[in-house]
Amino acid sequence: MAQGHLIPMVDIARILAQHGAMVTIITTPINANRFKSVTNRAIKAKLNIQVLELQLPLSEAGLPEGCENFDLLPTAAQAVNMFTAMVLLEQPAEKMLRGLYPPPNCIISDGGFPWTMDIAKRLNIPRFVFYGPGCFAFLCIHIVTNTNILNEIDSNSEYFVMPGIPDRIEVTKPQASTWGKGDTKETTDNFERLMEAEKSSSGIVVNTFEELEPKYVAEFAKVKGKKVWCIGPVSLCNKSLQDISERGNKSAIHEQDCLKWLDLRDPQSVVYVCLGSLSYASTEQSIELGLALELSNKPFIWFVRNASEELEKWILEEGFKERVKDRGLMVHGWAPQMLILSHRAIGGFVTHCGWNSTLEGISAGIPMVTWPHFGEQFLNERFVIDVLRIGVRIGVEVPVMFYEQDKAEKLLLTREEIRAAVEGLMDGGEEGEARRKRARKLGEMAKMAMEEGGSSHLNMTLMIQAITEEVAKKTIPIQDIV
Ligand code: UDP
Repeated sequence: MAQGHLIPMVDIARILAQHGAMVTIITTPINANRFKSVTNRAIKAKLNIQVLELQLPLSEAGLPEGCENFDLLPTAAQAVNMFTAMVLLEQPAEKMLRGLYPPPNCIISDGGFPWTMDIAKRLNIPRFVFYGPGCFAFLCIHIVTNTNILNEIDSNSEYFVMPGIPDRIEVTKPQASTWGKGDTKETTDNFERLMEAEKSSSGIVVNTFEELEPKYVAEFAKVKGKKVWCIGPVSLCNKSLQDISERGNKSAIHEQDCLKWLDLRDPQSVVYVCLGSLSYASTEQSIELGLALELSNKPFIWFVRNASEELEKWILEEGFKERVKDRGLMVHGWAPQMLILSHRAIGGFVTHCGWNSTLEGISAGIPMVTWPHFGEQFLNERFVIDVLRIGVRIGVEVPVMFYEQDKAEKLLLTREEIRAAVEGLMDGGEEGEARRKRARKLGEMAKMAMEEGGSSHLNMTLMIQAITEEVAKKTIPIQDIV
């Protein structure tokens, strides 16, 4: 029930349909509405897709009307109600699946719905699981949740070396553990249920490409004892201007205005700033970020979600937009991220390191300033900095959950720290040029992986074949029924 999961799932649905599969997307009305224009265009283009809507049991779960996504939760405390609502979907989902004609051959489910494994067993069909992150982060998560390493570390600030992985990666205990078991009974039980469902799954679908992290793909498949299907970067299935600019939500800027603004800038000169669909900077931190962008003297396009009244007031009183208008564009709301990243004017991406955003930056061949907040984002940061070497750390040490941002007592980053990272990325001299070159090369490799003959394209074909074979094995021959 979050954009970082729904957006790639809708892309996966379209890629499956492009490979000849008949796809049913099951989601809730408000979420379905967010990508209606994309799915309607796909259906119009004769892709075999249907979208079915399941009502989320909001009142039963104690959620207000319309609250169908984590980004719509009125208060942080209601996150737990969302998990309750997700569990309550099991029965209506099963009823819906049983009513499908022709009946489904396979379920590809987000990991957040472990009960889809129980339904798959009852329907005698395979279930594949999709979580979101790439293989590097997943391997690290597997290691910290299946060894005693975190219990051996007392300090929350000391860095330790992640054991048993191909590169030397250092993280702190909180950075390594905000995705996984959590620290309450509910979160641990929930995580264990996810892992239990995974054990019976037929495979793990990952939004990555083999050439990006070959050692981690192999190692991850080995420790899980499962086939890992690398079928990304799935965002690259979006080819038309409309699909590229209408991804996930209605954009806060008209695509033509955005393009016009970017067209006026020099190639690789603009810094794009966007902290994802859930994370955001507190008022104090946003002001510091704005001042840093102003100080750095680089053209920038900055998208701000959830601007507080105090921030709005500061912008007005300081005349911030006016002060930076010759080179800075500040937009309130949803960014057409793919449209922006694929423009030649973009030279750097300040990202919160959500895996989708990270992979979209990689696919566009853009180096990044890494500003992780929570979840597996600190692991993605290490991947960008230490493994791919296409980023500059902004220097965040401590995770902050998306709903705790305003509570963060002290300012996390100063304008000088932010400015140093942005300038380091944009005018990095020889080192910066080498970083840019590596990023460009990865962007080319990403595009090749998704083209016909590329690894991810081939993996999608092979995955569909594997599903067909598994279904044939599970199907009881007619003579046995008779
Ligand atoms: N996104 C976007 N515009 C925004 C914010 C996010 O298009 O203003 C998209 C972004 O392209 C990505 C997804 O939302 O596909 C966010 O997923 P990610 O894993 O990066 O982070 P999350 O939001 O889940 O933390």
